[in-house]
Amino acid sequence: MNYYRVHSRDNDTCFYYDKNEQVQLEYCPTCGLLTNREKAREQSIAIYRKKGKYLMSDTWDGETIVSERFVEIYNKYNLKGLDFIPLPKSPHYFLLRCNNIVRYDYDYNTNLYMKDKCPTCNQWYEICPQGILNIRMEDEAIMEADTFYVSDIIIGEKVARRRILYATDNIPSYFKIEKGRIFFDKIERVR
Ligand SMILES: [Zn+2]
Repeated sequence: MNYYRVHSRDNDTCFYYDKNEQVQLEYCPTCGLLTNREKAREQSIAIYRKKGKYLMSDTWDGETIVSERFVEIYNKYNLKGLDFIPLPKSPHYFLLRCNNIVRYDYDYNTNLYMKDKCPTCNQWYEICPQGILNIRMEDEAIMEADTFYVSDIIIGEKVARRRILYATDNIPSYFKIEKGRIFFDKIERVR
C-alpha cells in the first residue's frame, strides 16, 4: 500500500497562542513549553477565526483547518480516518482530527533529531525527523486504502507541534480529480 505525507500551506493564524484573554495557556516553569495544549485546543474551537480561503491549511501552532469542500470530497469518495469539528466563528470550516495512530519507525531513522527532554513536563523541546517519515513496517502492513492516519510521534519545536498526517492510495488521485490543491509526498523506503 502506498502512503503519503499530507501537508498544506500555513494560513498565518494561531489556533490558541494569540488568544490569551479567552484561552488559559499554561506553561512549564522549567522549559516554557505549553503544557495544556489539549485544553487550549478545546477552548479555542469556539472562538477561532480563520483568515482567507483554502481547502486545507495549517495554523502556526500546529492545527489543521479544512473547508466544507474538503469534507465534500472526503464524503464523496467514502474516505476514512478523519473527524471534522465545526468552528462556529469560521462558518464552513472545520478543525481536522485523526485518531488513527500509526507508529513512527525510530529504528529506520537513526538520525532523528531530538533536542532536550524537559525533566519537569517530560516533553521534548524540539523533534525533527531529518526528512525520514516512514512508519514501522508492521503498521504499514495493516494500513487500509482510502484512509488517513497520524503518527504517534509529535514533531516540531516550541510553538508548532503536530503529528504527521498520512493518506493511503487512492486519496491523492481523488484530490487531483477534484482539483483540490493539497500536497502529497510519497513515503518510500530507500534501504
Ligand atoms: Zn518543561
